[in-house]
Amino acid sequence: MSPDESGYTYPISGTLKTVFGFQAFRPNQESIISSILENRDVFAVMPTGGGKSLCYQLPAMLMRGTAIVISPLISLMKDQVDAAEENGIDAAFMNSSMNADEMSDVYRRLKYNKLKLLYIAPERFAMPHFIEKLKAASISFFAIDEAHCISEWGHDFRPDYLGLSLIPEKFQNVPVAAFTATATQRVQEDIIDRIGLRKPHIVRASFNRPNLFYEVRAKAKIEPQILDFLKDHQGESGIIYRTTRDSVMEIANFLKSNGIAALPYHAGLPQEERKRNQEAFNRDEAQVIAATIAFGMGIDKSNVRFVIHADLPKNIEGYYQETGRAGRDGEPAHCLLFFGRGDIPKIRYFINNITDEREKDIAVEKLNQTVGYASHNVCRRRQLLGFFGEDYPHDNCGGCDICSGSVEQIDITIDARILMSAASRTGQRFGAGHIVDIVTGADTKRIREFKHNEVKTFGAGKGKDKKYWRSLVDELLAQEALMREGDTYPVLKITQKGSDIMFGREVITALKKEEIKTTQKKKGIQEGYDEALFARLRNLRKKLAEANQVPPYIIFSDKSLHEMCRLYPSTLSNMRQISGVGDVKLERYGEKFIHEIARYLTENPEVR
Ligand code: ADP
Ligand code: ZN
Repeated sequence: MSPDESGYTYPISGTLKTVFGFQAFRPNQESIISSILENRDVFAVMPTGGGKSLCYQLPAMLMRGTAIVISPLISLMKDQVDAAEENGIDAAFMNSSMNADEMSDVYRRLKYNKLKLLYIAPERFAMPHFIEKLKAASISFFAIDEAHCISEWGHDFRPDYLGLSLIPEKFQNVPVAAFTATATQRVQEDIIDRIGLRKPHIVRASFNRPNLFYEVRAKAKIEPQILDFLKDHQGESGIIYRTTRDSVMEIANFLKSNGIAALPYHAGLPQEERKRNQEAFNRDEAQVIAATIAFGMGIDKSNVRFVIHADLPKNIEGYYQETGRAGRDGEPAHCLLFFGRGDIPKIRYFINNITDEREKDIAVEKLNQTVGYASHNVCRRRQLLGFFGEDYPHDNCGGCDICSGSVEQIDITIDARILMSAASRTGQRFGAGHIVDIVTGADTKRIREFKHNEVKTFGAGKGKDKKYWRSLVDELLAQEALMREGDTYPVLKITQKGSDIMFGREVITALKKEEIKTTQKKKGIQEGYDEALFARLRNLRKKLAEANQVPPYIIFSDKSLHEMCRLYPSTLSNMRQISGVGDVKLERYGEKFIHEIARYLTENPEVR
């Protein structure tokens, strides 16, 4: 192929296959790439795992000159460059960790047009002569990653990013593409304005992550519960989030003593150790990382198969971001939240320490939303997307515990009346715990003190346990028959809908969830693969990764390996059909994997 007048070669779908080994574009990738190729600015909000890197790597391959990628994290730059090089793309990075020789080498490659991609940190734009050096080279376009860092309205403002507004000014005919995974409408406008994008092609992708399975389980004894989950997920990479540093250490030690390769990560650990642990996780040497939310930015690992929240998250945005680290490769991944009411007072305690009243109100509101997410019998995906202003168009998402359980509608009117009557007869002045005590006929000091054992509904719900009545309170709150009032000691109030139910003007039903086994759930999303072979290919991948000093997922993603474990490619041309196998990887690794698959099949003739 030779370049046409505008400087790039067609077709882009050919490049997608030969360089990246992919059959089809993900949503929005093609329109973004075409815009860049037409020299148009781009602004794109795409969720984690949406495939942003390809949106600039592919046009960089096709256009004349070097694409400059601005990226805030040094640790990620190296991974990105390694990944590009594995696909045969000439790439380099420039950052403060490099010595003078290394720098001048990169400048030389830039000057002689030997680079398709150059990753740089934003602060470089403030350095003298840097812009002139870029001007002396041939620049195809600029890509700004994590573009929300330029906005003070965003959650990650970095003053260094402000210098990027120089780009459109100094490079008038060079397109600029800005990418982010989080931007409200307001942040979006701010980003476009601050960088100075010129009538950009705007993309707001759906935040739905179809390959993620969302589940909430009741939290009881958390350690054995996690161990139980891990039994079904042997050898799979995953993150366990906990709120405090102590609990991170506890769970990591507990898992270690149960033979699981787990490492801790939190801001209290020495920098060196944190780095080492993250690296070990990245390289599949540690299966599990137990972490506080300090573990976040800078994880590019594509084969995270599960994210567990062992404690209640403080807000839904954070929850979405954290779960978003699962399944970047597009393969099924599990997001499990353990929800226990006992976590609520702990978060309230933090909230009570906030001095700014407005901030405090927001924090309470956010906490209520998370509790709602965990306790409402509403499709988890619908709730998450609704939170980002997106209306999920289907009745059943097939990828959450609510939608995939065998769900049954049951009438809960009678029990709802018992509960609400207890609240009403005690003047709507008590919290859920006390009301449940009344209904179940508990003998507590408070009950005796207030003579609540004389209330008509005292003990009327004895036949069912406290847990049941507790969850009924949640249900009534979720369906807005009850509401909570007050911050520190919230009391239950009966709403209009609640009194309609109480006085027989309305009935109320709830979904009854049946427990189903994890393995069953996954089938709906993706068909299976040969797990024994996968273990072997994963081993081979790890060896190659060690030899090349790159993370394993950069050699091949889990998705590529899973496909190999379904299709058993035996020739190079079969191998070529596997997603993620481009020309360069085919040449580098094709034979080795074919050989391993053939050996496996000879040793296990019954497989085929
Ligand atoms: P983001 O930066 O948006 O979080 P990445 O660029 O890291 O996402 O891409 C996530 C994963 O999806 C990577 O493993 C990447 O190779 C893969 N990917 C990207 N585009 C495609 C595609 N068109 N087909 C299949 N896989 C893709
Ligand atoms: Zn659902």
